[in-house]
Amino acid sequence: MRCPYCGDPESKVIDSRDVGEGVRRRRQCLRCQARFTTYEQPQLRNLFVIKKDGRREEFNRDKILIGIRKACEKRPLPTGTIDKMVDDIEAELYRLGKTEVPSALIGDMVMERLHNLDHIAYIRFASVYREFADIATLKQVVDTLVDSRAKRPPAGQLPLLPEDEPKLLGRRQQRRKQDVQTTK
Ligand SMILES: [Zn+2]
Repeated sequence: MRCPYCGDPESKVIDSRDVGEGVRRRRQCLRCQARFTTYEQPQLRNLFVIKKDGRREEFNRDKILIGIRKACEKRPLPTGTIDKMVDDIEAELYRLGKTEVPSALIGDMVMERLHNLDHIAYIRFASVYREFADIATLKQVVDTLVDSRAKRPPAGQLPLLPEDEPKLLGRRQQRRKQDVQTTK
């Protein structure tokens, strides 16, 4: 269980008691000393994923993790972001209380989170998951993202390109900025 404050995987149990069928544990992070509570419950049923071709396979957390890691490769994301995302998805899936879920549901859950996190990773994941047939389909998705950014840039969104910011300034403003830089 990672520390919800700093993401460190090491914590010590400072209190433990039975609650119903589960166990409530009070933990302290070994790195930032923050205290948090976890509930552990027996998992009674295994979760199965129904794939596009109708085959069923047991839910495998690592598969999602690998897919997201690939999409996020070299993106400047804080440590622990991807693990936390997979934790969230896993928890949400078990909360559904179903024994089977379609793989498309998991894909959509990943897409939704990547969309809010990092647009490059989102496009990468979408291009694999949605199997874009051609460059026109890919362009459509990118255009939609650029449109939505122009209207309302989501808070904390990483820029699509490092030079995104100066482009938003008017040309005159940009020149003035350069002047200031060169006269320094
Ligand atoms: Zn911590």
